[in-house]
Amino acid sequence: MSMFDDIPVDVGVIYEGERIRKDGMQVELGGPKQAAKFELVRAKKMDEIEDEKVNVIGPDLKDLPVGGNVPFGIYIEVAGKAIEEDLEGVTERRIHEYLNFIEGIMHLNQRYDIWIRVSKKSFQKGLNSFTYIGKVLARLYKSELPFIEKIQMTFITDPAKVKEMYDQAMEIYEVRDAKARGMKDEDVDTFYGCTLCQSFAPTHMCVITPQRYSNCGSISWFDGRASAQVDPKGPVFAIEKGELLDAEKGEFSGVNESIKQKTLGSVDRVWMYTGFGYPHTSCGCFEAMAFYIPEVEGYGIVDRGFKGVTVNGLAFSTLADSGAGGRQVDGFHGISIEYMRSPKFLQADGGWDRIVWMPQSVKDRVKEFMPKEIVDLVATENDAKTVDELTAFLKQKNHPVVKRWKEAVAEEAPAAEGEEAPEATVFPVSTATVSAGGFKIIFKNAKIHAEKVIIKRDKPKR
Ligand code: SF4
Repeated sequence: MSMFDDIPVDVGVIYEGERIRKDGMQVELGGPKQAAKFELVRAKKMDEIEDEKVNVIGPDLKDLPVGGNVPFGIYIEVAGKAIEEDLEGVTERRIHEYLNFIEGIMHLNQRYDIWIRVSKKSFQKGLNSFTYIGKVLARLYKSELPFIEKIQMTFITDPAKVKEMYDQAMEIYEVRDAKARGMKDEDVDTFYGCTLCQSFAPTHMCVITPQRYSNCGSISWFDGRASAQVDPKGPVFAIEKGELLDAEKGEFSGVNESIKQKTLGSVDRVWMYTGFGYPHTSCGCFEAMAFYIPEVEGYGIVDRGFKGVTVNGLAFSTLADSGAGGRQVDGFHGISIEYMRSPKFLQADGGWDRIVWMPQSVKDRVKEFMPKEIVDLVATENDAKTVDELTAFLKQKNHPVVKRWKEAVAEEAPAAEGEEAPEATVFPVSTATVSAGGFKIIFKNAKIHAEKVIIKRDKPKR
């Protein structure tokens, strides 16, 4: 029995988190195989749109190849007296939540990166047209966000139209992102928090500041402000900064209080500009992951779109799992691409001087915001495919991290005359757990120095 009589499948919060595997999918819309895909919300005037109208450009669900994959776009236009452009970002982010409420629909990611699957089971129940999906979205939007008085939507599967609108969408995202650039966290008294991702990461709260964009890359400080004004009790809310406790690491009393309250005490301290100590929590829909590479004392960055394995032999999905779920994990830090353009980017860890590897495509996107002298010193998959190759590359380029290796060697392991000093690795951790022989050893606020870390699988003696 459906929540809506005229919709063939059920709709409700219980379907959030439903996974649709390849063999159970009717069709896949967007996703990693498609270069062009998007979701976009635009604010319109009341007389510019027709309320609850659903358009389909290209083949509808029933005409798409079974088990196939197609380019895809969702374009939503909203109008209302209180609606302004700054509400577009947060309204757009709700597509993820509302689509996932529909039985047999799985929606991942955001903006230019969307990945949607429709299940065979729901298709067979009659979910064979985008019109049904449009009707559900319109009702959820209007009941949950009362500032929306009219809503019209368009689903696009026609490849040429998707590409054309994708190009326009990319320009619109850029204009939104650029708006807060140049503003400083010091210039404002209020930050914004978002708990939309708590449905799957209960201890996560994004702290959105002018210089630390939300993890998903979809909600800027301006978007947060607009949303908190029209819907102050909603999942996006104001945070009074309170007292500045640490300017370098980015710790504020108001942020600590807010996250403590919103996570029911699970997290009570956040340092916003570092990946160590008390880093900003990582949910699961961050655009990229900064991962510490202890061998070179620097960070690699990998984005969701990177298909290969990174320089440490792990793919995005594995690295993402290491930090996701609303945790604060030393050295695994979920970030947005826009945060990489911020002067506060991992400031307490050394900022760009600490970044050693990233995919070429990410470098191309952020290059103009990197300090000029560092651009050529950061390796990509074209320069280094293994940590050994990376070490050689960094040495050859004299990347700023190389100085750290030398300092660490001088401090920690003075070599005997004529003997080559081992290169020590300094790996600061706030909490680390090691299990051995039935005991658990917990290190708190420790600095571990190791010449080598060997992880061996325990084989039972025969
Ligand atoms: S990543 Fe952060 S800002 Fe984006 S939807 Fe999730 S909680 Fe909100």
